[in-house]
Amino acid sequence: MTAGGRERWRRRAEGVVGELRERGVVAVAVTWVDTGGIVRVKTVPVQRFPHVAAWGIGASPVFDVFLADDSIVAGRYAGGPVGDLRLHPDPDRVVTLAAMPGWAWAPADRYDQDGGAHPHDARLLLRRLVAELAEEGWSVRAGFEVEWVLGRPAADDRFVPVTTAPAYGMARVVGLADYLRDVMAALGDSGVSVDQVHPEYSAGQFELSFAATDPVEAADTLVVARETVRAVSAAYDMRVSFAPKVVHDAVGNGGHVHLSLWRGGINAMSGGAGPFGLTEAGECFTGGVLGHLPALMAVGCSSVASYLRLEPSHWAGMFACWGRENREAAVRYVGGCPGERERAANVEVKCFDATANPYLMLAGVLAAGAAGLRDAVRLPAPVDIDPGALTPAQRAAAGIDALPGTLAEAVAAFEADAVLGKAFGAGLVDTIATVRRGEIAALAGLGPAEIIARTRWRY
Ligand code: GLU
Ligand code: MG
Repeated sequence: MTAGGRERWRRRAEGVVGELRERGVVAVAVTWVDTGGIVRVKTVPVQRFPHVAAWGIGASPVFDVFLADDSIVAGRYAGGPVGDLRLHPDPDRVVTLAAMPGWAWAPADRYDQDGGAHPHDARLLLRRLVAELAEEGWSVRAGFEVEWVLGRPAADDRFVPVTTAPAYGMARVVGLADYLRDVMAALGDSGVSVDQVHPEYSAGQFELSFAATDPVEAADTLVVARETVRAVSAAYDMRVSFAPKVVHDAVGNGGHVHLSLWRGGINAMSGGAGPFGLTEAGECFTGGVLGHLPALMAVGCSSVASYLRLEPSHWAGMFACWGRENREAAVRYVGGCPGERERAANVEVKCFDATANPYLMLAGVLAAGAAGLRDAVRLPAPVDIDPGALTPAQRAAAGIDALPGTLAEAVAAFEADAVLGKAFGAGLVDTIATVRRGEIAALAGLGPAEIIARTRWRY
């Protein structure tokens, strides 16, 4: 944050603060997402917004090594009581929170007191990777899907679904019509462009998907949308969980992301001579993402509980393969209908969940895709069956591997991944690995039911 940058952000914040006040805003929530995917916050009165856009809000760097249960681990490059960072709310992304009257929200970029970019700041990292791709003439459009379950307040921390009406059933929409309308209205009023909302498979489960945008905006949208769902749910006295697994024997909550690669207004995911019409670049980008998926799991599936979600035949994408409209493949090619393919074709990464820091996860995906472009990585043969229906020997013969089955395996793949290591830098890699090992140690020796119970209400 240079002197010129401070002045620019102050002026932009001055430019919006009047409108925020007219809309009744009293306070601004300034958030960042920690290494383990929890959204952390500081808040300021609205009149301080221009000042803090320029000079930031003080926050300890120790949050980089927080665990989901708020305990703190010691990293080699992060942690400890000493030091201060500045949270600079992005004045171009501030929105009023319709579900929280009197509140606005802005995502922060984290700098040090001298204006140096914090090397562990996930949003700045994602910005840098977007810029690096842009230098090569590429842009990526990303759109998240998010799933959550709604529970009734229960005496203990059990999950009691608010509805057991059928999966995808209209009865579920009828039963929760006011709530779902309020979610959609609040999102619209907060500037979030919703593609669709529907009841999902598990009891009390719903899903929202968003229009594709620039990756930083997509991650911002995911943050504000989840907190909006949380706020509307609280107003209806319902408990909400975005955790990857909420009940041991039920389908979990995914956090899938759709990606397309663009150059000069043309979508590289269609109109080419490759499989299903992928262009060569579209294939290479997708091949890069697929090839680095075991390592990417360490940023896309950040919790121990994440790996309990990844079961065969649960549409969670636990196999390291790709296929056209194959909901059991980690990478699903979504071609769209003829006539809109040029615009709509994309690939969906299905294995990730909402414990991901969306900025870190997209940064990893962009680094992997860019490496695929650079190295002209080709995709293996697409898979058009449920790999979970094959025997291990049949899967081996078909060259289909399962993705890491534990957080420890994902961390090992992550630490061994030179592409992600170069993009993230040694300090951030070490910090992420330290936090993940902390999560593993915090839940060591516990069975699945206890791991799920401890994770359920943290996300
Ligand atoms: N709930 C599934 C998951 O864990 C995803 C269902 C779907 O394909 O939307 O990812
Ligand atoms: Mg779904």
